[in-house]
Amino acid sequence: MRRTTFAIGLVSLALAVSASALAQTSADTKDKKAPAVQTAESQAAMTPASALEKLKKGNARFVEKNMRSRDWQAKVPATASGQYPFAAILACMDSRTPIEIIFDQGIGDVFGIRIAGNIVNEDELGSMEYATKVVGSKLLVVLGHTSCGAVKGSIDDAKLGNLTGLLARIRPAVSASGPGSSKDDAYVTKVAQANVSQAMKEIREKSPTIKAQLDAGTVGLVGAMYDLSTGKVTFLPD
Ligand SMILES: [Zn+2]
Repeated sequence: MRRTTFAIGLVSLALAVSASALAQTSADTKDKKAPAVQTAESQAAMTPASALEKLKKGNARFVEKNMRSRDWQAKVPATASGQYPFAAILACMDSRTPIEIIFDQGIGDVFGIRIAGNIVNEDELGSMEYATKVVGSKLLVVLGHTSCGAVKGSIDDAKLGNLTGLLARIRPAVSASGPGSSKDDAYVTKVAQANVSQAMKEIREKSPTIKAQLDAGTVGLVGAMYDLSTGKVTFLPD
């Protein structure tokens, strides 16, 4: 009997959430500045190319001070029953690269995988496999940035506890960039960009699950650099 009551309670809750989501969708249709949350349908309708375009437009809105106004609290119940993010972004932990803000996205829109120096390890790969294979995201982005402290630390071959091993993962990008100084902004950017390319290479080589989706064209992989001084994201050529 208690179980039946519990089940009815769950159904009521589900209906309430659905009604709330519908109300939100309806409100969003009237107000173009408050788009609906991502749904299974909207996610399925997207391609790697359209996902990339969505991020490019979002960053353009951010740079042009034309960001969408969002009813954040309304998005909470509207996304509580499931998530259908269209992209997963591997970015640095840097406090100046908050991905939802710089791409002008809302709750439930993108996966954020953030770690110092946007390096790739098994845990990041597992997260990206989950995002694409299990949840259906269409695009993987590796986002580096200018003046990255982790990149500077790797150039200087800094040693500190567990950070030592993390910075060592950026060393191949330092080696590939030739000699230079962490005080040279252009050189730091060059290494950060090489580090993005290195991460993309590792994703392809170390995750058969992701590689299969890339080869099939169901998922895309792009590299990008964020400029801390302008707020602009530049997507790198293949
Ligand atoms: Zn950084």
